[in-house]
Amino acid sequence: MSTRKLALEQDDGTVATLGFTETSLTLETEVTPNGVLTQASCCKSLFKFRSWSKSLSSEVPIRNVVAATFLNGAVKVSYLARKGKKQRLHMSQVWGRVKDTDIVAAKEWCHSVVQVAYNGGNPPKVLRVLINPHGGPGKARQIFTEKVEPILLAAGCVCDVTYTTKAGHALEIAQSLDLGYDALVVVSGDGLVHEVINGLAKHAQPEKAFSIPIAPIPAGSGNGLSLNILGLHDGLDPCAATLNILKGQPMKIDLLSFTQGNQKRISFMSQTVGLMADVDIETEHLRWMGDLRFVLGFLRGVVTRKTCEMEFTMKVAEQDKSRMVDALHARRLNAANGGPLVLPSSDPMPSDDKHLDGPGSSDEDWVKFDKPVLWMCAGKGPYVSRSLMQFPVSHPDDGLIDISIQEVVGRKFLLDAMEGAEAGRSYWFNSNRYFKATAYRAKPLTAHGVLMVDGEAYPFEEFQIEVLHRLGTLLSPYQHYAADFKVIDAKGTTRETV
Ligand code: ADP
Ligand code: MG
Repeated sequence: MSTRKLALEQDDGTVATLGFTETSLTLETEVTPNGVLTQASCCKSLFKFRSWSKSLSSEVPIRNVVAATFLNGAVKVSYLARKGKKQRLHMSQVWGRVKDTDIVAAKEWCHSVVQVAYNGGNPPKVLRVLINPHGGPGKARQIFTEKVEPILLAAGCVCDVTYTTKAGHALEIAQSLDLGYDALVVVSGDGLVHEVINGLAKHAQPEKAFSIPIAPIPAGSGNGLSLNILGLHDGLDPCAATLNILKGQPMKIDLLSFTQGNQKRISFMSQTVGLMADVDIETEHLRWMGDLRFVLGFLRGVVTRKTCEMEFTMKVAEQDKSRMVDALHARRLNAANGGPLVLPSSDPMPSDDKHLDGPGSSDEDWVKFDKPVLWMCAGKGPYVSRSLMQFPVSHPDDGLIDISIQEVVGRKFLLDAMEGAEAGRSYWFNSNRYFKATAYRAKPLTAHGVLMVDGEAYPFEEFQIEVLHRLGTLLSPYQHYAADFKVIDAKGTTRETV
């Protein structure tokens, strides 16, 4: 694979050499004899200071290139890099002048590197950005202005930004969203995404509005959607999430119609009752802690170990855990080989109906689950928080909702279960009853309790969920959820998702 190089002359007379291939951008900078790095300070973070070396080189994946421009005889390249393997991404820029005789070649170099970095093109994106200054630890504004916006501006995006002023504000904006935007960027946690999706559902042209991809920037205390799109390593990294705005491809997802009395809402991630819901509501005042609040809340829940009494019925499509894992592997393998994404073989073919009421159903398909339980959690997407991979075998668009019901177990079991919860270990517990369904109904049998929908508190009353197949759109680098599900399966072999 040949490297296409370009030499840039720095202000101090030294040379920085940029090169790119189909897979990476390389950067070589000279070091003066006394060991001072001659490269402009904006990219010094990439390098380790080494006074004995005459030059330093570095490499980033080509996908991390944000822009390359030629202006007034100088080239500027913006890209995302890490200081260390496990560190988060940050934007770096390198620039320098080119000789008059190299101007044509430099312009061509810039054009070509952008073509490769954007896989064929670099359309500037027009973005609607919604920021909740009160989400999570209250850093959304800072995250946007210091990390996200500089990358988007460097890439030539146009941002139409609103800071929300109250709960419900984002819903109002989404409801009358101009359909010309390329993406809807949500800087907060999952609660603001919940609002946005419910706003889109009330749009005068809901299907068109839902086809505008939503791209979350993690700035809340629960950032489940971002984790599901980008995985544990990048899911809480605002720069990685910004790169997904630039490079991600639209990925269709199922949404969930939530009916309670005569109220209809949309859920995109989870519905929880019992101990796990208490965790959320009882730690609301600890929002400043970020997602550590969920761990603390769980420990509190273990102490009380309250059972959750409810009537629960569902339309089950699959309940064999091994088969669910097989279906996950088949889909990932297929995606890795660039093939069409297949539905798990055990699934019923979901209807292509995208109406908001969900598919109709006859009563005889419903089955009852009537054992005492500690909690019920149902949803789409593997992670509900960084510390819990609740639905490891969830697919974005299989037309099914994953349901996890925890039967009553002892305190020691619950404490032990925390280990490996972020990697989906609890999936195989026999007391964790796991189903895939097209719909379910839950009716609390006690007067007081908590129902959380996408991390938001809802009235503790009977509700019904139906899957709305492929109604929503996200941006994704992978075209499947990014969770890494490495577990010992029921037969004792280690299974990994590709
Ligand atoms: P977190 O992950 O911290 O819960 P969310 O994105 O879920 O963050 O947002 C929490 C709540 O904040 C949501 O219920 C949302 O409706 C509400 N909200 C949005 N904007 C504002 C605002 N300006 N002031 C107060 N609450 C807001
Ligand atoms: Mg929330």
